[in-house]
Amino acid sequence: MKLHEYQGKELLASYGLPVQRGFVATTVDEAVKAAQQLYPTVSDNNFYVVKAQIHAGGRGKGGGVKVAKGLDKMKEVAGNILGMQLVTHQTGPEGKKVHKILVAEDVFYPGAKEPKEYYFSITLDRATGRDVIMASAEGGMDIEEVAEHHPEKIVKEWIDPLVGLADFQARKVAFRMGFSGQAYKHAVPFIKKLYEAYKGTDAALLEINPMLQASDERIIAVDCKLEIEDNALYRHPEFAQLRDLTEEEPLETEAHASNLNYIKLDGNVGCMVNGAGLAMATMDMIKLSGGEPANFLDVGGGANAQTVEAGFRIILKDPSVKAILINVFGGIVQCDRVANGVVEAYKKIGNIPVPIIVRLQGTNADKAAEIIRNSGLKVIPAIELREAAQAVTQALS
Ligand code: GDP
Ligand code: MN
Repeated sequence: MKLHEYQGKELLASYGLPVQRGFVATTVDEAVKAAQQLYPTVSDNNFYVVKAQIHAGGRGKGGGVKVAKGLDKMKEVAGNILGMQLVTHQTGPEGKKVHKILVAEDVFYPGAKEPKEYYFSITLDRATGRDVIMASAEGGMDIEEVAEHHPEKIVKEWIDPLVGLADFQARKVAFRMGFSGQAYKHAVPFIKKLYEAYKGTDAALLEINPMLQASDERIIAVDCKLEIEDNALYRHPEFAQLRDLTEEEPLETEAHASNLNYIKLDGNVGCMVNGAGLAMATMDMIKLSGGEPANFLDVGGGANAQTVEAGFRIILKDPSVKAILINVFGGIVQCDRVANGVVEAYKKIGNIPVPIIVRLQGTNADKAAEIIRNSGLKVIPAIELREAAQAVTQALS
């Protein structure tokens, strides 16, 4: 589950981490209230940072982060960002509508020392089965480019799951990031607390970019990208209220409610499969037959008429779908039962406008093919994967 920047920062603050102060707002009026909470004395010399809250990064470059001097300018900027369709390299070309903004204090004020942006993240490295810290002195907006062209500028430190982040590792990372003097003294506990927050929230990813060295050498989290591991959410009932459904794919939300494992993709062949591995193989097969998968959908081991119907309905809501492929292996579940489920669901939904290819293999596959053939519906039966692939190619041509 992804969190908004403002939610992530609140969680970090609860771990004792210094974060850029700010308040969330959904209207310009609320933005004014937020601004008053930030600086009780109104002055034209107050600097505000207005930041679009969407579940995607790259907001700065897309025009979703603006610094404003004075309350009037802040109102103008807030009005422009609220409701805008923000396009960043992470949103896709259609962008994301901004429903919320964060009105924050400006922490980039010039002082004795130039403020400096660093990059810091923790995530699971699947190759080693360990959490890994990745950090860099080249923070700010272009970390992807640093990773691609100057990988040597990224510090990596793997964490032993039994020991946790050792003190010497926190010091080593801070040193290799290039901190010195007072900033180094602040950076070491900052890094340790970030790791505590990462573990404590069961995060899958915690990314601070920029991690700022302010002009007074304090270290501040200016941005926060926090993703909670879905499989650990049951341990955090308090996080349920942090979910923002307006940011999530509506079809995925609906599928989740029906206990279906669904991920929307942008192709033209909808597919419904039992088992994640078979679903992946089916998507490969769709590509080989000249189509593009419109989704990943794993209906799980016990496919019945209800799950098939729920799956159908979700796939049919996607307007790009030109054909549907059902690929079920009858091991525990018997093929004839699934076939009956398909026929039942089809009749219930009625008038499905796209061809449906059903490949049922395993226990009672022959019986299943017969049920489909005799149903009189526009459903194409297949037993072999090869037949199914040909049927998909034909359906698309
Ligand atoms: P992202 O582009 O989605 O990662 O959003 P960030 O929160 O990282 O903001 C993008 C950029 O805006 C940062 O790298 C900073 O350069 C700038 N920025 C963020 N907060 C402030 C601030 O308080 N003052 C100033 N002057 N710039 C800021
Ligand atoms: Mn950022």
